[in-house]
Amino acid sequence: MDKNPPKEKPWQAVRTEAVESLLVELGVIDSARVDEIVRHYEEKVGPKGGARVVARAWVDPDFKQRLLADGLAACAELGLGGPETEKLHVVENSATVHNAVVCTLCSCYPWPILGVPPAWYKSSAYRSRMVREPRALLGEMGLTLDPSVEVRVWDSVSEIRYLVLPERPAGTESCSEEQLAALVTRDSMIGVAKVTV
Ligand code: FE
Repeated sequence: MDKNPPKEKPWQAVRTEAVESLLVELGVIDSARVDEIVRHYEEKVGPKGGARVVARAWVDPDFKQRLLADGLAACAELGLGGPETEKLHVVENSATVHNAVVCTLCSCYPWPILGVPPAWYKSSAYRSRMVREPRALLGEMGLTLDPSVEVRVWDSVSEIRYLVLPERPAGTESCSEEQLAALVTRDSMIGVAKVTV
């Protein structure tokens, strides 16, 4: 008996492959193009893009103004953009306001800026509790906010995606833009964490 039998594929993968092969057979899609798109999201797109945007906004006040006015146009200045995001609304955290992003309906997310959403972002627990009890949920996720801080929750839809501009942490005055970008995490741009040094 084979000691290492091949692992069974999850049903989602089997179904996706079946649908893909049917669409290829019907001439609706091209396999090579599908592979290219998957590779693009797996290898080239990720939260590092968003981190570059945040770091630039921290060091360049004019860029920050443009980013808050028109998120997509400002991201395009850094070469970021693509499908799945028609309008990007950037919301800024401060000492008195904390923003967090959710998609209550499904999993809308700024793919070209942050890459593929984490599994918990798509969970029904996150999607419902972020609206009902954001403070408690954030606390459970490791972010305890002072009661005086106002929490604003933004519900993404397919037309409008949100990006949180986290607060620049204290003690980073001498950091370069590149060093700052390395501090920015995906979770801080969803609004479930702060950027720390
Ligand atoms: Fe959605």
